[in-house]
Amino acid sequence: MAKYRECEKCGAALDHGEVCDCESKGQEEKDVLYEANRAAIREALAAEVLITLEKKAGSETFRRKIEASSASAALNGLAVLLREYAALVGLNPVEILALLATVLTVPAPAGKERAKEE
Ligand SMILES: [Zn+2]
Repeated sequence: MAKYRECEKCGAALDHGEVCDCESKGQEEKDVLYEANRAAIREALAAEVLITLEKKAGSETFRRKIEASSASAALNGLAVLLREYAALVGLNPVEILALLATVLTVPAPAGKERAKEE
């Protein structure tokens, strides 16, 4: 007793649980895009990172340069910087992180958002 169903996209008759060709082709394309995206992310993570922070004007000097061989090494550098900054201003590093999380999750003003997408 076979159960049939129709593909919602192309109307082909399918056995129960069978994935239609039209969908698996789409999935293959998605997989290719996903893999390309992952490869790009891996490449970006492995690339050298240079972060320069500078604060002049009135200067309670804040000049740091983080040069790292990879993104994870750069994050380690940022963690050290964050810990030092927390000690400097007398806060817990977690409080600094909470502040950063707030700043990072505040939606960008509509104008800036549009400029970024262009
Ligand atoms: Zn189909």
